[in-house]
Amino acid sequence: MPKSKTELAENDIFTKAYDFTKADEVKAEGLYPYFKPLQATDGTTVKIEGREVIMAGSNNYLGLTNDPRVIKAAQDVLQVYGTGCTGSRYLNGTLDLHLELEEKLADFMGKDSCVLFSTGYQTNEGSIQTIAGRNDVIFSDKDNHACIVTGTLVSNAKTMRYTHNDMEQLRKLLERADESAGKLIVSDGVFSMSGTLAKVPELVELAKEYNARLYLDDAHAIGVVGDGGRGSASVFGLKDEVDLISGTFSKSFASLGGFIVGDHQVIEYIRHHSPAHIFSASMPPANVATVLKALEILQEETWRLDRLEEISNYMRTELREMGFNVWSSQTPIIPVVIGEMTQCFKFWKALFEAGVYVNAVVPPGVPKGQSLVRTSYMATHTDEHLNRILEAFRKVGIQMGIIDQNGHSLLD
Ligand code: PMP
Repeated sequence: MPKSKTELAENDIFTKAYDFTKADEVKAEGLYPYFKPLQATDGTTVKIEGREVIMAGSNNYLGLTNDPRVIKAAQDVLQVYGTGCTGSRYLNGTLDLHLELEEKLADFMGKDSCVLFSTGYQTNEGSIQTIAGRNDVIFSDKDNHACIVTGTLVSNAKTMRYTHNDMEQLRKLLERADESAGKLIVSDGVFSMSGTLAKVPELVELAKEYNARLYLDDAHAIGVVGDGGRGSASVFGLKDEVDLISGTFSKSFASLGGFIVGDHQVIEYIRHHSPAHIFSASMPPANVATVLKALEILQEETWRLDRLEEISNYMRTELREMGFNVWSSQTPIIPVVIGEMTQCFKFWKALFEAGVYVNAVVPPGVPKGQSLVRTSYMATHTDEHLNRILEAFRKVGIQMGIIDQNGHSLLD
């Protein structure tokens, strides 16, 4: 039976858990949008609470999670290797499949070497922790993903955070830092909430000027943007100028896991020193086989990236023309700003009832008063899906007084 707070000792470490009532309050209002169990999905549509809705909030950018070829690749290796590795890469958990994937990814990204991790989160947390130490300085964009923040904290390096994409501020921080310290600039390549690209040309210049190394987290960029899906730096033709590029398999690659590519010596150092790599079990075989097949499809079926770009431009333009604020999105991640948190939950619910699933993002994920629904698109969305999504946005936006009939925002 759950205890009540009055039964806890004054200094009980669990007090904070009993003080946390926000989720229950939102549930009581019938507006809670999180942890909704999907009962079935074909990728672009999902069944939730018995209702079929269009998925407009997945990171399945290439639409490969339900591709029969990808599913078969996973099934086939299960017969050969079983379901799990039961150990870390360092010891009994390295399969020939892991090595094949590392080689193919290094090749695809045009870098010396690659090392896999079991999640994208561990990739960044574990690599940053290993590369930066007590006497180093990390320069980190304030909108960087939580795993980068964790990596900077556990690294014990001094961390200087700059305002999102503010290159002048970054320059000042670089100027102010101890000249003799090792320096690492870390940025998301595509920012996960706003869908903006990092200013890679400026980052490359600043890294050179101040003798810093540059690390891009391309979780939402590899398999999404750039030459053949090679990520944010390749959008600018600067892949060779970036020292370390990480990616994840939980988005375009339809699986779970992550990787980082760079110079051989640096990758070998990470491979042999990163606690997240050494002390955690390796990617299960079916996950690795999924990524191998997805990587093959990404390279063969170039229409997927073209379609993704076309769809993203279409949705951004249409939503903007309706009067919605989509921030400065440049990718398939398109946020729609609603404002206050409760209003955002209401908007989310109305959209769901109109047949569209999106993700509600509220503080601390975004600044106060800027709660938003994060939409994201897949190469496999049909025109009909897209137009149904737009229709739902128009209807709910007008009903809730967020936009008017003439394409104007009614928000302050
Ligand atoms: N980096 C970024 C920018 C992300 O958005 C995410 C996940 N949303 C991660 C890393 C972590 O990846 P994963 O979910 O595969 O662990």
